[in-house]
Amino acid sequence: MSRAGQRTELVLLGTAGAPLPVAGRAGICSALIVDGRVFVVDCGRGAPSAFAEAGLDFSRLEAVFVTHLHADHVGDLPGMLLYGWGARVGGNGPLAPIRVYGPSRPRQLPAGDAVFHRQTTIHPDLPAPGTADLIEHIVAGYAYHLNVMPLDCYMPDAGALVRATDIAVPAPAEGIHHVPVSVFDDGIVQVTAVAVTHGRAIPALAYRFSTPDGSVAFSGDTTVNEDLIALAQGADILVHQVADLGYLKRHGTDDAELARMAALHTDVTQVGGVAERARVRELILSHYLPADPDAITEAEWAQRAGNGFSGITTAGHDGLRRTLHHQPAPGQPDPGDAHGRRTYS
Ligand SMILES: [Zn+2]
Repeated sequence: MSRAGQRTELVLLGTAGAPLPVAGRAGICSALIVDGRVFVVDCGRGAPSAFAEAGLDFSRLEAVFVTHLHADHVGDLPGMLLYGWGARVGGNGPLAPIRVYGPSRPRQLPAGDAVFHRQTTIHPDLPAPGTADLIEHIVAGYAYHLNVMPLDCYMPDAGALVRATDIAVPAPAEGIHHVPVSVFDDGIVQVTAVAVTHGRAIPALAYRFSTPDGSVAFSGDTTVNEDLIALAQGADILVHQVADLGYLKRHGTDDAELARMAALHTDVTQVGGVAERARVRELILSHYLPADPDAITEAEWAQRAGNGFSGITTAGHDGLRRTLHHQPAPGQPDPGDAHGRRTYS
């Protein structure tokens, strides 16, 4: 197959961490566009609007990959599916369903602790639903729209809108390394995942996308994790979450809360070491904690996160784009690159 004209582009659609909305930064969401096909990772606050702002086409949205089921990562998944519904039709009827991949139900319910005891259990019949459950409930919850709106407007068959797949990964275990599982592979785009460590959000996932132009890994939310470092090994880009626990401490977060956050996130003092050990070309910071863009400047984030990393460190921001260009092995001709592009920008 000719590769002429193929191009892979990363766009950060939102870079804020945590659910509380902040001005000036949208919730966590990234897109990888491969030859016009759009793959989204997480759907945080504002994701559908950011998708449109970035010039992306809802009819080309092929799949959404969810790292974990906290609301800051899936809160705008309903909109991502429903707002673009009317565009998902071609000459032969409905387009292929949007695929949503994400964590399965946990094997066992997370235990509470003395501080966070469970006061009210929501939906006790299924208190920890997985991704397929979430999609089923989104569709059920929006049944009015899906059933009634087509009476007044032409809409494609709602039954073709979305298909969800739970990803089965081995449970994380201290000292045991897991090989990535294959999530998606059509011969052009390969997506693999590993379980990472994000408190009691089990499973929480990291993803790696491999395309003819290069590879991009997404950390999801995690502490420093050996399986993530292995997953991201040699990637062109690692999009990694970052927290500044020192900043939070200086601004009143107490020690118990800081200890909990340290079990959830990779600190700005650690992320450069992760990128160095993963031997990635570029580390792009995202999912900021604190999320407020006025709290810490991009220059400061990049400077501090880049400590210990010999590659490029970039403080991500909403709308940041990176194009990956296929790079032939040294001395090899590059038959696929009709434009002679051999650089990476
Ligand atoms: Zn998060």
